[in-house]
Order: sequence, then structure tokens, then C-alpha cells
Amino acid sequence: MTKDIIMGVDVGATGFKGGLVDIKKGEMVSERFRLDTPAPATPEAMAKTFKALVKHFDYTGPVGLGFPAIVQHGVARSASNIDKSWIGTSIVETFSKDFAGSIHALNDADAAGIAEMEFGAGRSHQLGTTIMITIGTGLGAAMFINNELVPNMEFGSLYLKDMKRIAEKYVSNRVRKENEMSWKEFGKRFNEFLMHIERIFSPDCMLLGGGASKSFKEFQPYLKVKAEVLPAKLLNKAGTVGAAFYAYRQSR
Ligand code: BGC
Repeated sequence: MTKDIIMGVDVGATGFKGGLVDIKKGEMVSERFRLDTPAPATPEAMAKTFKALVKHFDYTGPVGLGFPAIVQHGVARSASNIDKSWIGTSIVETFSKDFAGSIHALNDADAAGIAEMEFGAGRSHQLGTTIMITIGTGLGAAMFINNELVPNMEFGSLYLKDMKRIAEKYVSNRVRKENEMSWKEFGKRFNEFLMHIERIFSPDCMLLGGGASKSFKEFQPYLKVKAEVLPAKLLNKAGTVGAAFYAYRQSR
């Protein structure tokens, strides 16, 4: 395998998705392989899933791994949609037990953001402040200032005005599905969230990724922020591609 091909893994609350990525082109060169995230999503159970994923690709090189939590120096610092025993646990050590290659872990939305900034909708917005939001089980966020990542921006944990629950419990793709919300209803709620972020950070551009971004056109009419709002281009591959690209940068 050439050094330009790196494995990216996107760990989500519901699925582990992996693939081999050509980091020069920002493209997946293998199929995208998915395994269910175990329930409960404990470190031991998830380590087994990771092992099965790398085994599937018979891969032993560096791995980039997007993880759905605050990730600081390879350690998980939060656990909104995974087992609480992850808090304070090293992702890198847990997944390295049966794996010889190097593991480079980062927040999942940071990984998706990196992919969009390098290869997708963010390419034309590398100057200024760009914020990416991933709309999935939770709300992920990544912020870039002149294309430099400010890691672990947990905007989904913000409290909107007069709210008793954090933003991602009020508006996410899961909340939309569970409450059978129309796109209008979802769009209006999501707009409240974007307006709040705009009020604090004044971004030039906002990129929207994750499951709900496939239906961007349905809720776009309700978004009233001044920033340019663009749907992500890499769709469900952003997390995997960005994680691989991160590993490439880290292991050089
Ligand atoms: C987590 C974030 C994560 C996001 C998307 C949130 O619940 O707190 O760290 O990026 O979900 O997975």
C-alpha cells in the first residue's frame, strides 16, 4: 500500500464506518465498511469492533479515528452518546491493544470539518472564520480560523435562550425523527441554534454536514443567519476522509 493511502474510521453513536482514503485526492479508494456500534458502547466492546474493522481491510498502517466526544491528546473527555466509562479513557490505548499501527484520534466533527475544508465546501472559505455543524444523533461542531482548526468546539452543548436542555437535545437529526418533526419545524429550531452561534462567533461561513444535511434544501428556507450557509460536499464520507487526512498530517 502506498503512503498516500491511509485508513480513516468514523466512530458514531450508531455505526463504525471505515475505509481506505487517498489523502492526496481526498477520496475513498475502498468500499465504505460499516459495523454497528455495540450497545452499551463501552471501551472493551468498541475495541472489538475496531479490531474487526481493521481486520476486514487487513490494514496495519496509521489510522485516523474520528470519535463522538471531546478528544484531548488521545483521551475522551466527554460521553454524550456513548458509554460514560469513556470519560478519562485513552482512545488510542484502548484501540491499540491488538493493533500494531499508530492511531490518531480526534473529535468526529473536527474530522468531518477537516475533510470539508481540504476537499469540500470549505475550500473556498479557508480565509476567515468557518464553522461546520454535523447534524446526526448529536450536534457536532468544528471551527476553523484561516483554515486552522480550533479543536473540540462543543456547540451542541450550548444552552439556547431560556432553555433547560442543551441544544442537541432540542434540535438534532435524532430529535427530528423521534418527534416526527416537519422540515419547517426542524428548520426553525435549527435556525435558532445557528443564530445563537452567529451572535457569539460571527462566522463568515457555516457548513452543514451529517445525516440531515442530505435534506438541506428542505430546511434551507428557514435559515436566517447572515453567514453563508453551505451543505457539506463529502456527505457521509467526510468523517472518514478527514480522519485519514488528520492521521497523515500527524504521522508525517
Ligand atoms: C458530542 C460531540 C460530537 C457530536 C457528534 C455530541 O453529542 O458531545 O463531541 O462531536 O455529538 O457526534
